[in-house]
Amino acid sequence: MAAKILIVEDEEALVTLISYNLEAAGYQVVSTGTSDDAMFLLKESPPDLVILDWMLPGASGIEICRQIRAGAATRNLPVIMLTARGEEADKLRGLATGADDYMVKPFSVAELLARIKGLLRRAAPEKTAELLQKGGISIDRQAHRVTRGSREIMLGPTEYRLLEFFMQSAGRVLSRAQLLDNVWGHTAEVDERTVDVHVGRLRKSIVRGAEVDPIRTVRGAGYVFDDKPSSA
Ligand code: CA
Repeated sequence: MAAKILIVEDEEALVTLISYNLEAAGYQVVSTGTSDDAMFLLKESPPDLVILDWMLPGASGIEICRQIRAGAATRNLPVIMLTARGEEADKLRGLATGADDYMVKPFSVAELLARIKGLLRRAAPEKTAELLQKGGISIDRQAHRVTRGSREIMLGPTEYRLLEFFMQSAGRVLSRAQLLDNVWGHTAEVDERTVDVHVGRLRKSIVRGAEVDPIRTVRGAGYVFDDKPSSA
C-alpha cells in the first residue's frame, strides 16, 4: 500500500504540479487549499506525511502544524513546510513549530521528492520497504509476489492489499472500519461483513496444513496480524 501524502496548499498550480509528481512516484495523494479541510482530513483520513503551506487563508500552516504536534494520533506525523522566498524563511528556520523540514518556493520537485522519501523511510519504514517480512510471510512489492517458506501464495487484488496492510500494521488491532478505510478506500460502499469474507479468503490462502494462522480475531475489536504467530 502506497504511503498517503496530504498536500495543504492554496496555490492550485503548485498543488497540481506536486500531486502529479507524487502520483507518478507511486504515492497516494490527497490535497486541500483550506485549513479547515486540512484539519478534517487529518482526522478522517490520516496521511503518512503532510506538505503544508505556511500562508493559507484562515488558520496558517504554523497553526495547523501546532495542532498536528498536539494531537496524540498525529504527534509523530512528518511535516514539510512550504514558504515563499523571503517570506519569514529565517523565522521559520528557527521556529519551534515542529515541522520536520521546510522548502522555500520555488523549489525543485526532485528535491521535495528526495526529502519526502527520506522522512518516510524514517517514519514509516513498513510502507516504503520493497520487501515486507512478518510472521513467516514475505511480500515482494516490486514483483507483487507473496511467499510463505518456499510456497508461493496467489492472492486476488483485495486479499493482497489486505495482507499488505495487516503486515504493515503487525501487532496492532485493526477494526473492520479501519480495514475498510485503508484497503477498500474511504468512499467504498461495502459493509463490514465484506471485511470478514475477505479475511476468511486471505486466511485460506496463507494457511496450509499445520501452518499457524498469523491473523487473530479479536472479539468485539477486529483483527490483528501477529508478528510471531508461533508464540500465540
Ligand atoms: Ca499560500
